[in-house]
Formats: sequence, C-alpha cells, structure tokens
Amino acid sequence: MSPQPTILGELRRSAWSEERIGARTVRQELRENLLQKMEKGESLFPGVHGYEDTVIPQITNALLSRHHFILLGLRGQAKSRILRGLINFLDPQVPVVAGCEIHDNPYRPLCRSCRDRVAVEGEATPIAWLPREQRYVEKLATPDVTIADMIGDIDPIKAARGGHNLSDELTIHYGLLPRANRGIFAINELPDLAGKIQVGLFNIMQEGDIQIKGYPVRMALDVLLVFTANPEDYTARGKIITPLKDRIGSEIRTHYPPTVTEGMSITAQEAWMKREGKRRVEMPEYIREVVEEVAFQAREDKRIDRRSGVSQRLPISTLENVLSSAEQRAVRSRDSAVVARVSDVYSAIPSMTGKFELEYEGEMRGAENIARELIRGAVGKTFTKYFTNVNFQPVVQWFEIGGELKVPANSSSADLLGQLKKIQGLFDHLAALGVRSNDDAAIQASAAEFVLEGLWAHKRISRSEERGYFAEARKTPEPRDPREPAGGGRVPRRQFN
Ligand SMILES: [Zn+2]
Repeated sequence: MSPQPTILGELRRSAWSEERIGARTVRQELRENLLQKMEKGESLFPGVHGYEDTVIPQITNALLSRHHFILLGLRGQAKSRILRGLINFLDPQVPVVAGCEIHDNPYRPLCRSCRDRVAVEGEATPIAWLPREQRYVEKLATPDVTIADMIGDIDPIKAARGGHNLSDELTIHYGLLPRANRGIFAINELPDLAGKIQVGLFNIMQEGDIQIKGYPVRMALDVLLVFTANPEDYTARGKIITPLKDRIGSEIRTHYPPTVTEGMSITAQEAWMKREGKRRVEMPEYIREVVEEVAFQAREDKRIDRRSGVSQRLPISTLENVLSSAEQRAVRSRDSAVVARVSDVYSAIPSMTGKFELEYEGEMRGAENIARELIRGAVGKTFTKYFTNVNFQPVVQWFEIGGELKVPANSSSADLLGQLKKIQGLFDHLAALGVRSNDDAAIQASAAEFVLEGLWAHKRISRSEERGYFAEARKTPEPRDPREPAGGGRVPRRQFN
C-alpha cells in the first residue's frame, strides 16, 4: 500500500478519495466489509459458537440493512463478545482530521473547529489515521448516567477563555456518544438508562440534534448504535421509550448453547487449562461433560431464577477450579500426573454458587446444597450417556454382599486405584470412557471413581458424607438434626457430598 496521506490534498488523490469515503457512513462501511468477508467465505464471528444458524444470520441481516440493533439475552450469552467483534467489519483504519475530538471525516467535518480549520488551511489540513480498535465505545447503562456523560456538556470555562457564546459548539465538552463518532457505540442494559437520555439518543438518531442545558446543538453524528438488554426488562412496559424502540432496526435474541457439545467447545475455548508446571495435565472428557451439564441442569432448575439465567461463565470458572483442585491433590500427594476426578467437581463448588440467583425454594435449600444436587444430576446424566446398556450388577453386588470403600478426595492415584481394584467388575467397562487397561493410575482411578459416582447418582449404591461408598439397601435414614426447625425453615449447613 502506498504511504498514508498526511494532508487533505494527498488524501483526495489516494485510495481514500472523496468519492469513495466522503459520504460513506459507518453503517455503509460495515455493510461493504461484511459483504466482502462473506464473498471470501471468511468466518464472521470467530470464537463465537452455537450461533451459526440463529444469531449470526440475524446480525448479518441487521448490518446489511444498515440497522441499529439490540441483542436481547440473559447474562453470559456472549453479547459483549459479539458487539466487540463488530470492529472486524470496520476498515483497518480511516482518515480523520488530525486532533479532532470527534474523529471528523476530513471531507465532511462536523465540528466547528474542523470546519474553520478546513476553511483556512484547505488542502494542507493535516490528516491522522484512526485504527478500528479505537472506533468502538462501550457504556454500561445505569440510572445515574447523565446527558453530560453520554452526549456532552457546555463548558463555561472553555467558553470564557475562548470568548465564545455559550451556545457556540466550541464550548462543548463532548460525552461518550460524540466521541464514538464514525464508530460503533454500544450501550449495555439499555432499559437502565433514564428516560430523558433515551430521548436524547432518539433525537440524535432521528434528527441529528440535541439540547444541552437548553441550548440546541446540531450533531449529525455518524455511528452504529448497538444495545443489549435482558429480554424481560426490555419488554416490560415503560422501560424503553417507544420512539427509541421504534428506531432500533432489529431485535435479536441470543441464547445459551443449544447442546452440551457446543457448550463444551465454548468452555474449552475460554477456560484457562494450559497450566505451567512439571506434571502432565489431563482433563478427562467425561469430567468436562459433567461440568457443562451442571450449567445445563442449573438452567432448567426451578429453584434457580430463570430471569437472570446461568452464565456460560459458570462452566468456564468451574472447569478452571476443577483443574486447580486436581493440581493441588497431585502436588500434595506427589502424583506424577494431574488428572481431574469427579470429587474435584465438588471441590469447585465455590466457583458455582455465585453464578446463579436462587428462587425462594432454592434459598431455603441453600446454594451449596443446590450445587451438590446439580453435580449429582449432571453425573447421572453423563453416566447414562456413556454406559447405556452396560451391566454394572457385579459392582452393585460387591457392595450388597458387604463391600465398603472409602475414597478420600485427596488420596493419591495409586492409593485410590488400589482401593478401587478390590471391587469386582468395576474396571470391565472403562473402555466406554476411552480408558485402556495400560493407562496410568491417575486416569484409571478417575474413571473408576466416575463409575461409582454414577451408580450413586442413579441410587444403585450409597455414599456417605466422607465419600465412602456402600450398598444402597444398607442405608440408614440420616439422623435428624436437632437444630433443624420443624416444618421447614432454613436448613442448617451440613456437609453431605
Ligand atoms: Zn472536528
């Protein structure tokens, strides 16, 4: 590419001619670049999974239509990632009037100072180049956001110093929106924005003017406005002023990954799993599935608030914590390999409990207990997937004739394997988990423990609070906790994993 022009006259004769970009809006630029990417068959939103047939085609339509749009969805549905990904449809860089606070197009300057400058300096007006990364502005809407934050304020000091009239736009201190001129402005949680700011946004979109402290200011800004909102906040009456809603070209609903497999690929991409250290690190596939399934179970659980949702960040941070728990055990027990076990998923409960909001019934049960039940449900479901039609009767029988086993969560792989080997039939079907008889102790022990945990999840065998497994029939009713109030009320904290 030829060297970048540094003055308006050079710009005119370059690839960024007035004919090409003089009247081109941001939305036209996005459209053109998007079309080009599609012609080349490029991936439009690299790193976004599970939206190929739903969200991405709808966003594509919105951009091709040059629409402002809103993403409606619950937390942890990659809304921010998608909006930030829009910068990939911008030119790598665009020319601006050098030093302009609102990145004026050199051919069509908006601000008074640039217009004056071009009038005086003409073809010698200096040009600067704005990279696309600087053309994305994001703001979380909160009720205390003001017109000054968003649009701007009249600066009386600037006015006095320059001898300007107050209504002169040279006295404006620009807010976020004008600073996003020629770029993308994203407002998260739009319904939380005060009504009068929404009116301001509407005016900018509709008329290109706005009143600041009662002074009318003309600002025909060139921006793509994108928003996010929780669908319920958005549809609830009165939270979004109708004329603004009317100007948002498309409403696009996001969703959680439709399948566990898609969820797992998102989690695998986001979770920090490449740990440094001398030990081999392995996260068995069935453990990944259990972790992902916990999120799926949570999203279906009636005791968890559906309105706030269960973010994809739950399986991501849980998986990281599961691996850390395995690391901790391996280092303490001097194991040569770090291989996660189901017991590590229980150790990761602190990374789950903050990621769902409980309904009343859930509050009564307590977040930790809910998390334990989710894990048990997830193990049960994953177990069924791997072991349909597998007969574990010999294992169950071993317990029924009096076998008992204690599996402390921090035992070394060799210790655990030694214990587990006593159980007849336990190692007969591990091939279903991709485990071979010559795999090392850590891998075999984890797989066998998963089988026991699965049998427990399906109530074929019992398990004590201290991770001891025994026959289901021998289970005695749990002693009643004297602190437990009769007829419900808050259940006291008790460990029973
Ligand atoms: Zn300017």
